[in-house]
Amino acid sequence: MKGFMDALVKPTAGPGLELRQVPIPMPGPGEVLIRIRKTAICGTDVHIYNWDPWAREHIKPPMVIGHEYVGEVAALGAGVTGLTVGQRVSGEGHITCGRCRNCHNGDIQWCKNTTSVGVDRDGAFAEYLCIPQGNVIPIEDSLPEDVVAFFDAFGNATHTALMWNLVGEDVLITGAGPIGMIAAGICKYAGARRVVITDLNDYRLELARKMGVDAAVNVGREELTEIMGKQGLVEGFDIGLEMSGSGAGLQQMIGVMRNGGKISLLGISNKPVALDMNRVITKGLTLQGIYGRRMDNWHQMSYMVQGGLDLTPVITHRFSYREFEKGFAAMNSGESGKVILDWTT
Ligand SMILES: [Zn+2]
Ligand SMILES: [Zn+2]
Repeated sequence: MKGFMDALVKPTAGPGLELRQVPIPMPGPGEVLIRIRKTAICGTDVHIYNWDPWAREHIKPPMVIGHEYVGEVAALGAGVTGLTVGQRVSGEGHITCGRCRNCHNGDIQWCKNTTSVGVDRDGAFAEYLCIPQGNVIPIEDSLPEDVVAFFDAFGNATHTALMWNLVGEDVLITGAGPIGMIAAGICKYAGARRVVITDLNDYRLELARKMGVDAAVNVGREELTEIMGKQGLVEGFDIGLEMSGSGAGLQQMIGVMRNGGKISLLGISNKPVALDMNRVITKGLTLQGIYGRRMDNWHQMSYMVQGGLDLTPVITHRFSYREFEKGFAAMNSGESGKVILDWTT
């Protein structure tokens, strides 16, 4: 395919994005060109838009950003088999080396040579995206397109939540951003007894309630321990999912875990976080860092949605990609869940 396409580009080192015409990428050997249909805005994209310290350190303009998407195969590079033009797909955003010890072991989320679509290389906020065949994920037509648009983020939530057995367990989620809300839905779907989520933002706590949490707690004005009593927790939470990246959130979580409890850490902090190691030790807690997704999470996601997990309450805004400024304004307002950009209109 030759010619130009619309794309959201970070043009220079500074705030904002620009809708520009850029060349359509050419799929090389082993690569697949995807026609993008819908994308979702991630917190990472907001960091890049706002040009905060993280973005300044990681992004090299000019580049196309974005990494949450659904589309269809537009063209196949030389040697690509098993995919057909027109087939519906999404893609794993971490492009891994296939040669390091973790890749050999199937633990691609820990590849030491990973590069990220829309962060280290051109991304999906464009009419077309080119990625290696191994990163292309076929998507069944029965799955709702707007939900598939944020499977990347759903994958982070799945990886974090399903790290531990949840059946009959009491779960605390700190941080009711979109990934926290999605994780709450997964925990209920997977058989947790109580799911309690905390945040300081009432709008987001209300969305989390729609995802079926047993309690959504504003820790700015409510006592978590009181809510635990009301929910029938006796020894503390069995499982903790840290999604806020806030040191205060982790500290509170460590305080309310039962002895022997297990914690997944997904929220990234913008500065080093103090940790009460003595409590971790004396409580015998397990802390597991979570990065990206496991490849089998993609199958679990499709099957959970087909099995009845409804993630549509998380979607709060839909815009044409031409109105991307409205999308980023919604994300920056703090009053949004997932924001979808449509690339077909
Ligand atoms: Zn993301
Ligand atoms: Zn590797």
